[in-house]
Amino acid sequence: MESITKFDRTPTMSTYLVAYVVGEYDYIETKDSNGISMRVYTPLGKKEHGNFALDLASKVLPFYAEYFNIKYPIAKADQIAIPDFASRAMENWGLITYREIALLIDPKSSSLTVRQRNAMTISHELAHQWFGNLVTMDWWTDLWLNEGFARWIQYLAVDRFYPEWDVWTQYVADVFSQFLVLDALKSSHPIEVPIGHPSEIDGIFDTISYAKGSSVIRMLHDYIGDDAFRKGLHNYLKDYSYKNTVTFNLWSHLAKASGKPLIEVMSSWTLQMGYPLVTVYEEQQSNKTRIIKLTQQRFIADGSSDDENLQWTIPITIFTKSNPKSIAKEILMDKPEITITLENISEDDWIKLNYNSIGLYRVKYEPKTLARLNEPIANKILSPQDRLMIQDDVAALCNAGHQSFVDYLKLLLSYKDEDNFTVWKSIASTIGNLSSLLEYTDYFDQFKKYRLNLCSSIQNRIGWDATTNENPLVAMLRPIILTLMGKSGDQAIIDEAKNRFQQHINGNLIDPNIRPAVYVVVSHYGDENTQEELQKLYKAADMNEEKVRLLTAMGQSLNPASIEKTLQFVFEGDNVRMQDAYIGIAGCASSRVGRDIVWKFLQKNWTKLVERFGESSVFLIYFVESCLSNFADEKLVSEIESFFHSANTSTVTLAVKQVIETIQMRSNVLKRDSKAIEEYLSQQ
Ligand SMILES: [Zn+2]
Repeated sequence: MESITKFDRTPTMSTYLVAYVVGEYDYIETKDSNGISMRVYTPLGKKEHGNFALDLASKVLPFYAEYFNIKYPIAKADQIAIPDFASRAMENWGLITYREIALLIDPKSSSLTVRQRNAMTISHELAHQWFGNLVTMDWWTDLWLNEGFARWIQYLAVDRFYPEWDVWTQYVADVFSQFLVLDALKSSHPIEVPIGHPSEIDGIFDTISYAKGSSVIRMLHDYIGDDAFRKGLHNYLKDYSYKNTVTFNLWSHLAKASGKPLIEVMSSWTLQMGYPLVTVYEEQQSNKTRIIKLTQQRFIADGSSDDENLQWTIPITIFTKSNPKSIAKEILMDKPEITITLENISEDDWIKLNYNSIGLYRVKYEPKTLARLNEPIANKILSPQDRLMIQDDVAALCNAGHQSFVDYLKLLLSYKDEDNFTVWKSIASTIGNLSSLLEYTDYFDQFKKYRLNLCSSIQNRIGWDATTNENPLVAMLRPIILTLMGKSGDQAIIDEAKNRFQQHINGNLIDPNIRPAVYVVVSHYGDENTQEELQKLYKAADMNEEKVRLLTAMGQSLNPASIEKTLQFVFEGDNVRMQDAYIGIAGCASSRVGRDIVWKFLQKNWTKLVERFGESSVFLIYFVESCLSNFADEKLVSEIESFFHSANTSTVTLAVKQVIETIQMRSNVLKRDSKAIEEYLSQQ
């Protein structure tokens, strides 16, 4: 039988946004409040897994139409799940494609974390339907604006419909602090980069473009206010509808709407790499005034000084103990050094810079100034954003040698009664980095005891099981704490995890929110039988989300044979889709013993991997970053350098540079601080 399909005429659009999908799918459909037809296509038999996405998208689409004050430009807004997909999602106009895990939600076995992540991705792609599709950047140089904007506004949309998730706090831990790590490397790049060859394009879809780009937008939005921002944005989108444009045009529209000198302020953030470290010196005067001197210099991860002497125009905010919920001083710092006078401030009052961590800078305080912050951290007077960034900044300063890691370990004790999910997520990340370093010392067990002491109070409070009507953030906090405690050797937690895992195999399923923690803990201490059980579960799982949970845990074993088996499982046969392989190998490289095995594996199989994944594949970059960054031995630097020199895979050149810089930094930290940390831990 033959049939003819006629398509409507498409509007003027960029070719990279055209998509066709051919295949057998089920779908569900609705119309949004403006009458736009919306469908979610799912694999056959999984219609109900599309409900979450359809419901959210039908609310977010009219929200954007109202926010931009521009109607959704075309007649339909469809979304579809693709079985094996290199990206997480792609914003094709009217037919957004996703990995299954990024779109589908099983009401019975999807975790809150995945729901939240999907809400983010869906809101991101829908924002592109205007910002990116209706108005398209002229050239790849401005890619960061496209992605940075969508990454920012996705938080605005999700916050609107799920205020209980407190996503703006999570933004600071997940996006802002991530950019601060990468952009501190000497091998970083400005977010506006000239692109002359197609091979240079893939490399700029990186954390710096997305995370710094959106942090710049967040700072800008705060600087000019929502009204001016929306007005300028509307005019920009109207003026360039169905056309191409450049970053400058957005700045000039926003400058006009706000009356503020944007172009001067923004260029220091977009045209040069890096960001400043603001150092605070203070001197108390007799008449309740305090003189604050601020200096700026580029913050470089390994503490080396900035030869180029880069300078930024920084919107600085300061607030103090007497009025902790409002800004005492706001000033645009456009010089290497400025002096500010604070009135009405008592001798022992704390001060803090960067209210709610919106400005793109790290802060270094003198020891007495930092010590005063222990109190508002412990009694939670400071916002979660500020609490988490204080320890994040101090950890970075320790890595750079501005401070000793003993200072960091002392500071963390102020967080013993912390109960905020996002603050803990951030601590788990900084402490995870330190753990992967101290793994290379012979006092690692003592450090595990320190970790147990740090999280015992929160673990006692939240336990294993969800209570009725529990705050969703507590449900997301639980697996973080259980994993941290389990990996630190808490025997009761290890036993309970094993017990629950056994029951799970027998059909008494574990709550999906804590399942990742149980899988990781049993895998960590498990033998080859555990490994087999995990693989069996993997093969039986018909949801990508469940497979990813299992794959994440599988390689996190301390048993070399299990790690080898995981690598085989991931790369041989067709057990694991290509899109998920990096998740499996990253798990294997998460321990000292696994890292060595993975590095040997990569060297032996690199040519095959390049062939299979393609020589410009972003997965090669993921392999390099996630498998090699956590070494701490300088000997590895020359090994890695010479291997990739002869491998000659240009896609990973930047990633290799970043990895090498990171390893050198870590090795220096050990040389510098290891003795002092050992001494401190032995006194605990
Ligand atoms: Zn995007």
